[in-house]
Amino acid sequence: MTISEAMERESQYLMPTYKRFPVVLESGSGATATDVEGISYIDFGAGIGVNSLGYCDEGWVKAVCQQAGKLQHISNLYYSPIQIELAEALVTLTGMSRVFLCNSGAEANECAIKVARKYSFDKYGEGRSTILTLQNSFHGRTVTTLAATGQDGFHQYFSPFTEGFDYIPANDKDALLEKLGPGVCAVMLECIQGEGGVCPLDADYVRFAAEECRKRDVLLLIDEVQTGIGRTGTLLASEQFGVKPDVVTLAKGLAGGLPIGACLCSDGLKDTMSAGMHGSTFGGNPVSCAAALYVLDRVSKPAFRTEVKEKGAYLREQLLALPHIKEVRGMGLMLGAVLDEGLAAGEIAVKCAKEGLLVLTAKALLRFLPPLTITKDEIDRGLAVLKTILTREDS
Ligand SMILES: *Cc1c(COP(=O)(O)O)cnc(C)c1O
Repeated sequence: MTISEAMERESQYLMPTYKRFPVVLESGSGATATDVEGISYIDFGAGIGVNSLGYCDEGWVKAVCQQAGKLQHISNLYYSPIQIELAEALVTLTGMSRVFLCNSGAEANECAIKVARKYSFDKYGEGRSTILTLQNSFHGRTVTTLAATGQDGFHQYFSPFTEGFDYIPANDKDALLEKLGPGVCAVMLECIQGEGGVCPLDADYVRFAAEECRKRDVLLLIDEVQTGIGRTGTLLASEQFGVKPDVVTLAKGLAGGLPIGACLCSDGLKDTMSAGMHGSTFGGNPVSCAAALYVLDRVSKPAFRTEVKEKGAYLREQLLALPHIKEVRGMGLMLGAVLDEGLAAGEIAVKCAKEGLLVLTAKALLRFLPPLTITKDEIDRGLAVLKTILTREDS
């Protein structure tokens, strides 16, 4: 399939929900993807932080194939050994108490929202169901998680949205206190706003929010769909912010490229949901669970996370040395580069793709979410392309 064929046929059969790069990928290895013409690309995006071990990691492929060859799916009417193993690993590694397994980040957040409202309903009855989220947040694309997303641009076309969300500016303690009224059951936030432009919250604010929530028995829901599973150099980003959430959600990098979502809760919430209250046909799919177990096995090794931190520091330092990059934000291998005024991140990303580098954007920033296993050589090769493109912007 050539690029023009792909574009033509895609538009004939798929809903036009995506603005795509003119890149048609067919295979990959490590942090390198290869297109239909055999041209290779350094991938600084990893499928938006999903391919945590890169393309076709040997051990990951083996774990997935083994499970696919054994049992691909059973319904949640039956017990699944691999699902139980993954649940144990997730609960043990995160220090949480129970997990619900689903298929995406939005679904994990839906579960978090249901758990928070159910907890509050059981204890306080009706009318204490509002969830505060932050302006500029992103929590998903379902009608409810769009409502949770604190950006007006996402609150269009699909009305009526789910009620019971209210928005507060990030890092504003007074605004938080003002809105933490008797109708609030939870606060939901990302420690580093990803889609919102790679904006880390102030650790001091996150700790303040956690403390004020705790005083009021308001639950703290941390959306680690993007920041979780080693992305920032710790298993969860919240560890580095010094807080322990009541509920934490995971998805993107968890299974290294297969669909999965997870909603973990603390001990006090372990019996909030009961049989029949929530479920998912595909949730906890054995192949996805095998993939996630393998990813966790790798990411849970301290040396792996040390490398993430080191590579993150290296990438940051090298980015700062490039022309037209004003600022680099983020943690570990979740970084965003602010460009000089007048440079459009989207256009730069398209130019990079033409020269063999896949890079993401978030708002006006270039965004970097490479595989956690990316090598220094791959980082250097990707940076060389970016340098060429940015240097050309001089003339
Ligand atoms: C990507 C993302 C989501 C949505 O995940 P999907 O798997 O696309 O549903 C939710 N929250 C955050 C922070 C994300 O980055």
